[in-house]
Amino acid sequence: MSSDALGDPSADQPGVGRFLLHVCCAPDASVPWPSLMAEGFDVCGFFYGDNIHPEEEWRRRIGAVRALSRILGASAAEGDYRPSRWFAEASALAGEPEGGKRCALCFRRQLDATAEYAARNGFRYAGTTLTISPHKDPALINVIGEEACRRLGVEWVPRVWRKGGGFALSVRRSREWGLYRQNYCGCVYSFRDGGEKGQDGDG
Ligand code: SF4
Repeated sequence: MSSDALGDPSADQPGVGRFLLHVCCAPDASVPWPSLMAEGFDVCGFFYGDNIHPEEEWRRRIGAVRALSRILGASAAEGDYRPSRWFAEASALAGEPEGGKRCALCFRRQLDATAEYAARNGFRYAGTTLTISPHKDPALINVIGEEACRRLGVEWVPRVWRKGGGFALSVRRSREWGLYRQNYCGCVYSFRDGGEKGQDGDG
């Protein structure tokens, strides 16, 4: 699906246009990405990985995102991997449990990076796969995404992908498609804490 086929992304065509989808991990994207394409959006996946530890794991996850983009026939982009930027802020919240203040900060960094990439590259819409997780707060995620996008003139598309069995479908689909599934959320702290919330591959 190309942006040419969809016309001018700045034109007033609700539901149609260039869409930058923040991809937290390939398994979690296996439902939102094709769903948005089916709705008529021209979707590019965007992976931000400064929170991912160690680098070898970042490589595995980015490889899975690229594999998914090939399966879907869609484009994908990624931010530079510079975990020191993430640690500079998140290390002060090292003792926070998963789902606490450190995760809110982490969502903000991921969605700020998404909004900035979208604005720089002419995307009309942005959204995230994070809300497919049964362990993350979708209302908080959508507030953060909306704030990040509004200041840059990008339209945030709030979705709660876990609704209607979305998470279970993503687990089945990512297995069928042979996508790498991690067993912890992503950062060194979630790795340290045993990834008990992430054993289903929720990134
Ligand atoms: S547990 Fe996940 S969401 Fe929370 S700070 Fe770590 S990587 Fe980010």
